[in-house]
Amino acid sequence: MILVLKPKSPEDKIAAMISRIEDMGLRVERTTGVEYSILALVGDTSRVEKSALSTDEIVHKVIHVQEPFKRANRLFKPDDTVIRVGEHEIGNGEFAVMAGPCSVESEEQILETARCVKECGAQFLRGGAYKPRTSPYSFQGLGEPGLDLLLLAKRETGLLIVTEIMSTENIDRFERDVDIIQVGARNMQNFSLLKELGKTRKPILLKRGISATIEEWLMSAEYIMSEGNSNVILCERGIRTYEDYTRNTLDISAVPMAKRLSHLPVIVDPSHAAGLWWMVEPLAKASIVVGADGIMVEVHPNPDKALSDGPQSLKLEKFRSLMNEVEVLARTQGKQLRPKRKEKMPWA
Ligand code: PEP
Ligand code: MN
Repeated sequence: MILVLKPKSPEDKIAAMISRIEDMGLRVERTTGVEYSILALVGDTSRVEKSALSTDEIVHKVIHVQEPFKRANRLFKPDDTVIRVGEHEIGNGEFAVMAGPCSVESEEQILETARCVKECGAQFLRGGAYKPRTSPYSFQGLGEPGLDLLLLAKRETGLLIVTEIMSTENIDRFERDVDIIQVGARNMQNFSLLKELGKTRKPILLKRGISATIEEWLMSAEYIMSEGNSNVILCERGIRTYEDYTRNTLDISAVPMAKRLSHLPVIVDPSHAAGLWWMVEPLAKASIVVGADGIMVEVHPNPDKALSDGPQSLKLEKFRSLMNEVEVLARTQGKQLRPKRKEKMPWA
């Protein structure tokens, strides 16, 4: 339930209203807009009488929120959420590019990839150290030494690190060393992991589950946000359908839908959606045009020898040409690869 307050409502009356609602066992989140202030009621509002609130002198209107996601709901926060990571801002017109290998394999591999990714204009280096593989016999990732290699690449290039967490056991290390913590499709409904991540203040990249509806995906965001962490980035990475020419089916309509339902930024991973390197470019372009705030792309110096996801990984020179296209197309949507704030005045 949302209370839209009348413009210029006195502060003491607003405070009284908040404590009245809290006495009903609900939590209140206040957003102060230019014109209207909003009080969002979180908790079981089924027994709250709408009429008891709508007749209050400071209430302009009461909106009943039908969706089960509240904090993630655009009704609760009409403005886009902007996630600050280092000098970058995701969701604020800066088009975020997260690129790198599926798995961190060696120092040489990650450094060569990171140098290229940086030079081409991406802001983030992705790379898995803990890998959620379908088979227990496949390469499971380097673990801790993989994280050390990502940090080495960060020190050399300045790229910020995005990497996947699989277990609550690793939260302390990730909180200390990782810039954006990725929750993979297979863990989208690992609710105990989501709740623990909600206790941090780290940006969380939440991938859509393999067969998850948009509502289930937003409910997973709600789990993180309900613990106090509102730094959630949604990532559409394809869903399972009956089509099997591609690894998954990129649900391109999920981007405008998620952005309409929620204020959270949305990025697209065309690599896991397609499973085919040659389809990454057209899908990345489509993502930009439907309003994505960024993309996540797998890149490998030698995809034929990759320990995971080689067939969908771009060679370095292909990534370079993709980035040229991305830069041009993002500009047509009013987005750019560089942080807005970095555009310094000549005298600054
Ligand atoms: C990955 O990013 O390497 C990955 C495993 O992605 P997803 O969780 O989307 O399958
Ligand atoms: Mn992968």
